[in-house]
Amino acid sequence: KIITRFAPSPTGYLHVGGARTALFSYLYARHHGGQFELRIEDTDTERSTQESVDAIFEGMNWLGLEFDSEVKYQSKNLARYHEKIDQLLNNGQAYYCDCSKERIDKIREQQMKDGEKPRYDGKCRDLGLAKTAQTIIRFKTPQTGEVKFVDHVRGEITVANAELDDLVIARADGMPTYNFSVVIDDADMGITHVIRGDDHINNTPRQINIYQALGEPVPEFAHVPMILGDDGARLSKRHGAVSVMQYAEDGYLPEAVLNYLVRLGWSNGDQELFSKAEMIELFDLSGVNKAPSAFNTTKLNWINQQYMQKADHLQLVGLLQKRLMTMGLHLPAEINLSAVVDMFKDRAHTINELADLSLFLLQPLSGYDEKAEKKAFKESAIEPLQAVIAKCQAINDWAAADLHQLIADVVAELEVGFGKVGMPVRLALSGQAQGPSNDEIMQVLGQDETIHRLQQALE
Ligand code: GLU
Repeated sequence: KIITRFAPSPTGYLHVGGARTALFSYLYARHHGGQFELRIEDTDTERSTQESVDAIFEGMNWLGLEFDSEVKYQSKNLARYHEKIDQLLNNGQAYYCDCSKERIDKIREQQMKDGEKPRYDGKCRDLGLAKTAQTIIRFKTPQTGEVKFVDHVRGEITVANAELDDLVIARADGMPTYNFSVVIDDADMGITHVIRGDDHINNTPRQINIYQALGEPVPEFAHVPMILGDDGARLSKRHGAVSVMQYAEDGYLPEAVLNYLVRLGWSNGDQELFSKAEMIELFDLSGVNKAPSAFNTTKLNWINQQYMQKADHLQLVGLLQKRLMTMGLHLPAEINLSAVVDMFKDRAHTINELADLSLFLLQPLSGYDEKAEKKAFKESAIEPLQAVIAKCQAINDWAAADLHQLIADVVAELEVGFGKVGMPVRLALSGQAQGPSNDEIMQVLGQDETIHRLQQALE
């Protein structure tokens, strides 16, 4: 049975890279009918925060990445790590080390000068030191042989043990280090496939040595390439939103973001759009690209637009309403948001864009487009506007009225071109030269507001 996990350190929000790793782990487990687990790696008590834990839950929940067992916290598992550290100490596979930071820094400096990879020289390895308040604990890395594993993305990787030094597995205060606790937990949780960012690839041979020292089966590994910004540098805040929940705030649909994330480093032929069920059916580690993928907002927008066009109408209405409330808008009581959604959903990439496009319908006009105003509000516009107003005032049942015909009648009666009526009316109603058709706008504005705006244009 396949068991995967997502193991974030709660030191910030759930970022795009983390979410993508979580998604790959999730999909791999679901594809194989296995289990997906969440483990919070919060042993760094200074940097870990509850807000960050909450942000991780929120992000995963928004994306729909449900995990199978109770969430695990490393901070609640310290006794287990100590038990395993003692086991290694007792078996002579780990040792206390009292080398000062100054000494380590000095060795490192010399090694760098000599063009060598900085590594601990093993001074305390065979001294049999006892525990003191200053001693850290190091793992006895085998001094000969090599570590070999087949990464599901990178292929075969071999590292000579001579290149690895005796890594620290517990600090002086007894707190286990990442490389140690991760092995204990992955082993205890029965993780079969460790799928994570390739910034950890150098840790993997060290971790494999620890599995072996403990007599635990070594899981399989897949190291997923990092995500770059559009300028080729590692994705970071300066490229814009990197927190998953920022996309929620910016008006993206979770299904679309999920679809975008799966395509960020995974492909299945040239297919771009995947429902979650399709992702689960088609995902495999063999489809994960070896090269880093670049974040592309244009593509995300395109995908989001595809999802908006297919989305449940009521869902969009609800999201639009929420967005407008966030913007602090007081909606006219009779406003028909459903019609607003119909009007703009093919033109907007996001809910926020949809809201922006519809603003002119929902609050008083702040003015008219200057260029359009010069063109449309001329002497010749007065008569058409008055004629439209008169016809609007005569209507009894606005909702049932054929407003398209109303404009057409004015055009016919005045014997002018369509634009001579259409242009000033549109500008009067929307303040813009372009947009949805006048009859749609009038329908959404309602009778009073339509007449009010037309009259305003005449003032
Ligand atoms: N806590 C580690 C991180 O967030 C987990 C790495 C791993 O998956 O092993 O980078």
